[in-house]
Amino acid sequence: MKTIVLVSMSGGKDSTASYIEAKARYGSRYKIIPYFCDTGWEHELTYEYINYLESKIGCIVRLKSDKYDGFEDMCIKKKMIPNRLKRFCTEELKVFPSIKFISQWKAKGYRVINVVGVRKDESKKREPENMWKTTFLGKLPSNKSSKKAKSKFFNRDNTVTTFQPVVYWNALDVFTAIQKAGFKNNPLYSMGFSRVGCFPCIQANTNEIGMLDQKTVDRVTELEKTVSAKSGRYTVFLHKGGKLVSLGNKHRSNKYNGLGLELGCINQFGICE
Ligand code: SF4
Repeated sequence: MKTIVLVSMSGGKDSTASYIEAKARYGSRYKIIPYFCDTGWEHELTYEYINYLESKIGCIVRLKSDKYDGFEDMCIKKKMIPNRLKRFCTEELKVFPSIKFISQWKAKGYRVINVVGVRKDESKKREPENMWKTTFLGKLPSNKSSKKAKSKFFNRDNTVTTFQPVVYWNALDVFTAIQKAGFKNNPLYSMGFSRVGCFPCIQANTNEIGMLDQKTVDRVTELEKTVSAKSGRYTVFLHKGGKLVSLGNKHRSNKYNGLGLELGCINQFGICE
């Protein structure tokens, strides 16, 4: 069986380091294809960084949702902005497009090794992660799902091998590996951001919100207005202690705390940094 190595790239340091590791390990044996889930809601510097990486490593496949033309379109069509409890953004804009991409390679008869840049020390939820794991593709069936749906999901054919080469590394290891390989980092890090990805992320914390530029705040405020008008409900980007806080309203105040949530999406592909 032919093997293909797919590398999930976010524009963040962990996925760049994971690509470098995957290339070193598999580059001489297998074809390696990096891919990037484009939410349409990334920082312009992240888009530039993806272009920069592409100039170094070759084509990075851009994946998009089949259903939505990016984050804003998704919010408008669903008449809501995702939040911690209803975090459909990860699923719709990243997980589903990734699953489709992986499944297409599997359908062509390839054994897929999917490389993701997850690290244990990123958060408590990621502590149990290992370098290798088998990942089921798709949405975990609920208790109420039919027997048929469950057996279709928990099936060997519905799995992909996940390789997480930097899982035991710390952030310094990652930056060092990137520097040694002669790659630049996403400039957002040197501007003080601890993570990259959707900009802003619905789980952004106080510091990150305080660092947003006015253009981004205006964009978010516009989205809040549009979704509020569509849904007929007051809809905002941030939630604080169960209350809704409009980002356009004194967004730089420290009292607006994004619930102190752990940063980033935790999902089966560790896809949001
Ligand atoms: S980075 Fe944040 S906003 Fe983007 S998909 Fe993940 S949870 Fe949603």
